[in-house]
Amino acid sequence: MPAVAEPVAIVVGGGLAGIAAALRFADAGRQVVLLERRHRLGGLAFSFQRGPLVIDNGQHVFLRCCDAYRGLLLRLGVQDDVTLQEHLDIPVLRADGRSARLSRVPGVPAPAHLGAALARYRLLSVPNRARAVRGALALRRLNPADPTLDAQTLGGFLRAHGQNDATIDALWGVVATATLNLRPDEASLALAAKVFRTGLLDHADASDVGYSRVPLGQLHSVGALRALRASGVEVLMGHRVESIEAGAVVTARAGSQQRTWDTDTVVLATAHREAFAAAPALAQTPTASAAGLGATPIANIHIIYDRHVTDLPFAAAVGSPVQWFFDRTESSGLRGVHPKGQYLAVTVSAADDIVAESNRVLGPLFVEELTRLLPDARRAKVLEVFITRERRATFRQAAGSVALRPSSRSGLHGIWLAGAWTDTGWPDTMEGAVRSGIAAAEAALEAQAHVPAEVAR
Ligand SMILES: Cc1cc2nc3c(=O)[nH]c(=O)nc-3n(C[C@H](O)[C@H](O)[C@H](O)COP(=O)(O)OP(=O)(O)OC[C@H]3O[C@@H](n4cnc5c(N)ncnc54)[C@H](O)[C@@H]3O)c2cc1C
Repeated sequence: MPAVAEPVAIVVGGGLAGIAAALRFADAGRQVVLLERRHRLGGLAFSFQRGPLVIDNGQHVFLRCCDAYRGLLLRLGVQDDVTLQEHLDIPVLRADGRSARLSRVPGVPAPAHLGAALARYRLLSVPNRARAVRGALALRRLNPADPTLDAQTLGGFLRAHGQNDATIDALWGVVATATLNLRPDEASLALAAKVFRTGLLDHADASDVGYSRVPLGQLHSVGALRALRASGVEVLMGHRVESIEAGAVVTARAGSQQRTWDTDTVVLATAHREAFAAAPALAQTPTASAAGLGATPIANIHIIYDRHVTDLPFAAAVGSPVQWFFDRTESSGLRGVHPKGQYLAVTVSAADDIVAESNRVLGPLFVEELTRLLPDARRAKVLEVFITRERRATFRQAAGSVALRPSSRSGLHGIWLAGAWTDTGWPDTMEGAVRSGIAAAEAALEAQAHVPAEVAR
C-alpha cells in the first residue's frame, strides 16, 4: 500500500504565538503552513514606516526571566539585536525634579536583593521603604497558581498588607501597570503574583530589563520569516482564514483566491475575538468563557526634538501621565535625518482615559509633561509629535480574568489554541505568547502520537 502523506499542520496567525508554534512543529518534523492575514509577521509587536523613520507601534520590554521569548530570539538568530541589562537599573523621575533608581546591587541574592534595592529608592520616605519591604515579603508568600487569588485585586491585597498611596504610586504601580496593562486596583492578584514573584522577587537577576535595539519588525517579521523558511515552514502572508470547520477543514482567502486545507491539526494563534470569528463552534465549548476577556488599550506618544534632551535610554515617571519613555533615536533611523535630534517614545499603559482623546489635546499635554521631567527639553524645539493607539493591546487582566482563559485544548477535534490570552500562567506578554505557541504545538504533537496510524490516515 503506498504511504499516505501526513496532512500538513496549519498555524493560523503569524504573531509570536504562531511563529513559536510553527517552529515547534517544524522541529518535530511536521510539514507546516502558517497563514497570516497581514503582509508581515509579528502580530501586535511590529514596526511601520513613517516617512524616513521606522516606528515601533509600542515599546516592547522583556525581562531576563522571559526564557521562552529569549529562546525564540536565539532561534531567530536576532539575540544580538536586543539589549539586556547586566543588572536591573530603572531611573524613576518625578515632575518635581526628584529622581531615584530602582536598581539591583549585583551579587546580592534573593530575597536580600529586595531590601538592598529598596533601601536606595529615595522616592519613598524611609518608613515607606520599610513598608514596601513588608509588602514585597507578603507578595513573595503568594502562590500564583492559587485559584482564590484571581478573585482579588492587587490593590486590595497591597492595602490589606499595609501599603499606602505613596508606595502604590511610586513603586508597585510603576511595575504593575506596565506589566499587566491595568492599574493595581483593577488588576488580578493572581497575575500580579506571577509578575512580582517570577519577575522580581524569587531570583535576584530575573528583572534585568531587555528591549530591542532595532525596529521590532526586524526581529519579529524579518527575523521570523527567515527562520521559518529555513525550517521548511510554508509562510503564506496576506491569507485571512475565513473558517475552520469540524474535522479541521481550513479555508483562507487571499484577494479573490480561496484555498482549503483538509487537515488533522490546526493551531489557532489569533487574538480571542478573531478565534471565535474563524471558528464559531468554539462558542459551544468551554473556550466560550474567553469571550469575556475584554481588552485594555496602550497609547504611545512619539516626540521628535531638534536636539538631545536626555542621556537616559529609558525611564519611568511617577506623578505624571508619562509612565515610561524610551529613546528610539538610533533604532528609528532619526540620525540620518536629524543628526542632532532625539526621538523619545512615551508609553501609556491602561490608557482607557486617553485613548479616545484627540492628538490636538494629547500632543501638547505630553510635550509639556516631558519638559517637567527633563529640564533640557524646555530649550528644545519639537519637530514632530504623533500618537499610536492599540485599542486591544492586551486582554483586560482584571480580577476574575484568569478563570476565563482557556487551555490550548479547544474542545474541538483537531484544533488547538495559542495566543497570549490563553492560560499560560503568564500575563499577556511576548513571553506568554511564545509559551502558548509552544504549548499548543506540543499538545497537538502529543495527541497525534497517541492516534493509531490507520486512524491518523
Ligand atoms: C503597544 C503594545 C505594547 C506592548 N508592550 C509589551 C511589552 O513591553 N512587553 C511584552 O512582553 N508584551 C507587550 N505587549 C503585548 C504583546 O505584544 C502581546 O502579548 C503579544 O505580541 C501577543 O502575541 P500573539 O501571537 O498572542 O497575538 P497577536 O500578536 O495578536 O498575533 C495574532 C496574529 O493573528 C493574525 N490573524 C488574526 N486573525 C487572522 C485570520 N483570520 N487569519 C489569519 N491571520 C489572522 C493577526 O494579524 C496577528 O498577526 C504590548 C502590546 C502592545 C499592543
